[in-house]
Amino acid sequence: MTYLIRGGTVVGPTGTTVADVLIRDGIIAEVGPGLDATGATVIDASGCWVGPAFVDLHTHLREPGREAAEDVASGARAGALGGYGALVAMPNTEPALDSVALVSYVLAQGAKTALDIAVAGAITVGRQGTHLAPMAELASLGVRLFTDDGNGVQNPLVMRRAMEYAAPLGVRLAQHCEDEFLAAGGVMNEGPLSARLGLVGRPALAEELMVLRDIEILRLVGGKLHFLHLSTARSLAMVSAARREGLDVTAEVTPHHITLSDEACAEFDPQFKVHPPLRGVDDVAALRAALTTGVIDAVATDHAPHTPELKDLPFDEAPAGMLGLEHAAALTFEALGPSPDPVTFFSLLSRGPARVAQLRASDDRVGLSAHGASMVAGEDANVVIFDPTVQWRGDKNALASRATNTPYDGRALVGKVRTTIVKGRLVVHEGALQ
Ligand SMILES: [Zn+2]
Repeated sequence: MTYLIRGGTVVGPTGTTVADVLIRDGIIAEVGPGLDATGATVIDASGCWVGPAFVDLHTHLREPGREAAEDVASGARAGALGGYGALVAMPNTEPALDSVALVSYVLAQGAKTALDIAVAGAITVGRQGTHLAPMAELASLGVRLFTDDGNGVQNPLVMRRAMEYAAPLGVRLAQHCEDEFLAAGGVMNEGPLSARLGLVGRPALAEELMVLRDIEILRLVGGKLHFLHLSTARSLAMVSAARREGLDVTAEVTPHHITLSDEACAEFDPQFKVHPPLRGVDDVAALRAALTTGVIDAVATDHAPHTPELKDLPFDEAPAGMLGLEHAAALTFEALGPSPDPVTFFSLLSRGPARVAQLRASDDRVGLSAHGASMVAGEDANVVIFDPTVQWRGDKNALASRATNTPYDGRALVGKVRTTIVKGRLVVHEGALQ
C-alpha cells in the first residue's frame, strides 16, 4: 500500500516542518511539500504532528502465564491504539523469560501481531536473583535489554557479575530500583500521607540506595545500565551526575509518576497502587521539570494489566501496577506543560526509547524493523499521527487491553493518536484498529 500523509507538522530530531510524507512498500519514500498523490491513499494530517511511531521500553504483556489479564496480541492492539510501533515485553511472566525457548516463544507470538515486539530477558534464572540467566544465548536471539523487573537484583555481587557478563555482549541491564529490605511491607509512598492513612510506606531511600549502588558498580566494571521507572528527584540527580562523568546510564519515567502524586491514594483506591509508588508533589514536579533537560531518555509505560479479581482487592492486598499504553501519549503531552515542544515529545516517546532498546536499525534475525525515525526518505515506515488538539476522557470500558485497571478512567485528556503506521501498514486510523 502507498499512503500520502498530507500537510502535517513533520517532527524531526531537531525541528519541525510542514510537509507531506509518502509511504510506499514499508519505507518512507519521500518527505516534502506538495508531493504527488497519484496511486496513494491520502491521509489528511493538517494540524497534527507526524513523527516516528512510539516505542515502549516497559510493557508487561503477561504471556505466558497470566493471559487472563493480557496477552501479546491484546497488548499489541492496545499499543497500536496508543501510537506504538514497538514494545519491549518484560520478562516477569510465569515462567520468567530466562531461556531460549521462552524468549523464542514470545518473539514468535510478537511476529503474529502488527507491531514489532522485542523481548527483555531476565538477568537471573527465574528472576530469583541468585544465578545468572544465559544472557549470551538470549543476546544471540536479538535480546538487547535484560531485567528482573518486578524486583530489583538485590544482591550486589550478583549485579556486579551480571554487569561483567553483559558488558562484552553489548547489551544493557535495566534495573527496577527498590531495596526490598527498605521497601518491605510498604504499599504506598512513605511520607506524611502514609502516616495519616495508617498505611506502611515504601521510602524514596529504597529506590535511591539502589540507584547509587548500581552507578557505583557500573563505574567499577563498565557497561550499559538503564534505570526503570525512576520516581524521585534524588534518583534523577544521581543519574545526571553519572552521565556528566561519562557513564553509559539511561533512565525512564512513567506517565503515572509525572501526572499523579501520592495524594491519589487517599481514597484507598487500589488503581493507584504501583511500585515504585506515586510520590509526593515535589518529586512529581522535579520529574516533570526533568523531561526537557535531557536527563530522561524515555517515558515508558510500565503497562501492568491485572484482572479485576486481583486488582479490586483492598488497597494493601491488591497487586501493584496500572495500565499505560493507551493513555501515555496524552499524559506525556500534559506533563510537558502548556505548549509542549513536539521534538521533546517524540524524543521521550520514540527516539529516546528506540536508542535505549537498540531498535534504531532493523534486525533481520528477529524480523524487527527500525524505530525512532528521523523522518527522512529511506527509513522504515513506522509513523504516528498525533492530534494535539483533541480533548477526550479516559474510559476503562473503551480500551483494547484485556484488563481495565487504569487510574485514568474519567480523566480529561488532551492530545490523541489518530493514525499508527507500522512497517508501512495502516494499523490504526481515525483512532480505530484497522
Ligand atoms: Zn518495575
